[in-house]
Amino acid sequence: MTLTGHMLIGQHTVAGNRDAIRGLDPATGTALEPAYFGGSAEHVEQACALAWAALDRYRETTLSARGEFLERIAEEIEGLGDELIDRATSETGLPRARLLGERARTCQQLRMFARTVRAGEWLDVRVDPAQPQRQPLPRSDLRQRQIPLGPVAVFGASNFPLAFSVAGGDTASALAAGCPVIVKAHGAHPGTSELVGRAVARAVKACDVPEGVFSLVYGSGRELGIALVSDRRIKAVGFTGSRSGGLALIQAAQARPEPIPVYAEMSSINPVLLFPAALHQRTPALAEGFVASLTLGAGQFCTNPGLVIARQGPALDAFVGRVAERLQHSPAQTMLTPDICSAYKAGVNALAQNSRARIAASGQIAGGPNACQAHVFVTDAADFLTDHSLQAEVFGAASLIVQCASDAEIRQVIEHLEGQLTTTLQLDDDDLELARSLLPTLERKAGRLLVNGWPTGVEVCDAMVHGGPFPATSDARTTSVGSAAILRFLRPVCYQDFPDSLLPSALKQANPLHLRRLFDGQREASIHAE
Ligand code: NAP
Repeated sequence: MTLTGHMLIGQHTVAGNRDAIRGLDPATGTALEPAYFGGSAEHVEQACALAWAALDRYRETTLSARGEFLERIAEEIEGLGDELIDRATSETGLPRARLLGERARTCQQLRMFARTVRAGEWLDVRVDPAQPQRQPLPRSDLRQRQIPLGPVAVFGASNFPLAFSVAGGDTASALAAGCPVIVKAHGAHPGTSELVGRAVARAVKACDVPEGVFSLVYGSGRELGIALVSDRRIKAVGFTGSRSGGLALIQAAQARPEPIPVYAEMSSINPVLLFPAALHQRTPALAEGFVASLTLGAGQFCTNPGLVIARQGPALDAFVGRVAERLQHSPAQTMLTPDICSAYKAGVNALAQNSRARIAASGQIAGGPNACQAHVFVTDAADFLTDHSLQAEVFGAASLIVQCASDAEIRQVIEHLEGQLTTTLQLDDDDLELARSLLPTLERKAGRLLVNGWPTGVEVCDAMVHGGPFPATSDARTTSVGSAAILRFLRPVCYQDFPDSLLPSALKQANPLHLRRLFDGQREASIHAE
């Protein structure tokens, strides 16, 4: 397919009139064709008007029709074949195998949401039938279901060109909820975005979904992005990126006459706790596992293990020694963009120049442009507790080991941490008591706690939580990965004393959708939805 460099506003391809955005091969520094001219306020207006016009029809599509639409998007993406993988490889420098895996995850995610939509549990139907004879007062008939919030603005992420971009988790969960979506493409992969955007647009057409259900716009975050978030018809925002970008969008959303939720996933250093027995008994394996997780994808994962916490002593010294040995064989990998590479170098320099930290291990020296040399630093708990800058996320393959003099100091360090997406516990049986005593604090700090694994690699499933307290995300009550992500884009509506004929199908007395309702305080038995 020939890339056009145009935006997609509903079913129309539209040329932008602002500064050109060009994909760049980060491995060679070569600019890629075509240029994507950014959109203006007028394009935001067109996309929002179409999205608003689509809302009421789209949100009442049947569960099976919406499921088919999501599945069709997955099929259309798969149908792009090698062209998508080739373009994404050129625009991101990510290895082909990683992108094949990411495409599979993206399509699996869409299919998971199709199943979720069909099962209908997300409608969370609650019925409290009328009790006309109740004393001292009768009770009305009350019925509740969830409805979509309205059009959602999604900001594509730089580090997941497929799974967190145009048809990624935010888009899939918003569409599943019944929300039209307007995606602002990430400037790092405009061609990949166009290919996927066209696949979604084809699915819209094939499934006879209103065209305003999906638009794809290009442009600067500060101009077009803020205009999108500020538009009165946008009712929620999905974002993955920097803390400053997320905060800017939250501020814009709060400054509106009608403030709206922003689900921003921003910054996490994903502490790994090496408990004493595990560290003593499994030093080499822990060092191997840590280095593999740290350097995966040049460390450009929101779940990258950027902090290690352990008791000081010979076992930790041995661990650091093994990490150093292992890391020196680790080749520098190309980072996603020149900006991400400079931000990484600035973060590493700040640590290198901080007298409270010392460098303990480094990977191979960076060769080509935008390459990431891995680094591990060490600090003491007392310094970590004093200097808040040591908690800053360095996006890339860098990590800081905090040496603690006692269990009490470990507890202090954990208590001092900002909110996290994950916390990892490397433990053996003899560590269980200490782990149990730390759990209440760890639960307050992170969205996902994992034992004897590594935080990178996020399963897309029903039980996943990819979220956590600020600054990991802007709303710790939710997840951006897994089927529960749909809940971000819903709100409850209660219908009181409605005649059955006026009720939405989900709430009708005869339960035509076969939903598992909470009926008069009792959960009904499981029955399959349509
Ligand atoms: P970013 O700079 O936050 O950009 C993400 C999106 O937000 C882009 O579309 C960008 O538009 C927009 N944006 C950024 N600042 C904005 C502002 N002030 N107002 C309105 N929109 C704004 O993230 P990035 O480009 O992916 O990478 C930059 C840094 O983000 C990385 O070095 C890393 O530190 C961090 N990051 C973290 C994660 C994570 O999961 N924790 C993931 C990716 C990146 P423009 O393109 O026009 O700027």
